[in-house]
Amino acid sequence: MTDPILTADELERYSRQIRIKGFGKEGQEKIKKTTVFVAGAGGLGSPVSIYLAAAGIGRLKIVDNDKVDLSNLNRQILHWNKDIGKKKSVSFKEKISGLNPFVEVDTIHETIDENNVFELVDDCDVIVDAMDNFSTRYLLNRAAIDKKIPFIYGGVYGFEGRVMTTIPKETACLRCVFPKAPPKETFPVIGSAPGVVGCIQVSEVIKYVVGLGELLKNRLLVYDGLSSTFTEIKVKRNEKCEDCGKA
Ligand SMILES: [Zn+2]
Repeated sequence: MTDPILTADELERYSRQIRIKGFGKEGQEKIKKTTVFVAGAGGLGSPVSIYLAAAGIGRLKIVDNDKVDLSNLNRQILHWNKDIGKKKSVSFKEKISGLNPFVEVDTIHETIDENNVFELVDDCDVIVDAMDNFSTRYLLNRAAIDKKIPFIYGGVYGFEGRVMTTIPKETACLRCVFPKAPPKETFPVIGSAPGVVGCIQVSEVIKYVVGLGELLKNRLLVYDGLSSTFTEIKVKRNEKCEDCGKA
């Protein structure tokens, strides 16, 4: 367990965010008591993990089964040239702990599947989707509903991105909005797209934990980097959804 009391060093480290209206030391303590599950140590996982760490999240539980490849480096900004060939989980832990030693970092080199997903997310307060495929996203969505854990969806393609926050049994879930997975492919992506999307996911986590602002509930936010626009699509919970439906 993490000690919820903030040290003098921590109060100084977070002093600029503690000044935000409605945030305060109380908000910072809430963040310190929070465990976030980050599914994926790649393009989205990089900004998600490093900004959560910078904000003073208590514990990050990061799961990834991959090793760093040269073709990752245009977008997976926590992996550097020297890390090629290393486990992504190891590379992540080094960077995150280097930025903020107050954050407990649990990195797990594993594939998320239907057998381990429930146990993996069990001790977490929020799940951040930093995956690149829908089959794992659906597993996480189902586990989030089952365990009643908020799930912050994020996805990118080219210069585009999408974000939505789901609160189990309250809002539309991922499956309500995307009933079927798009075909698998090695999709194109510019690094700034996961940068934008990952930062919005972090804002959602912080707002949820501290209790500030309006979450992206039943609102699919679509970012188009080519036109520099954000579009909001209102979505509804599907009563017949195979994951969260009432039947
Ligand atoms: Zn649903």
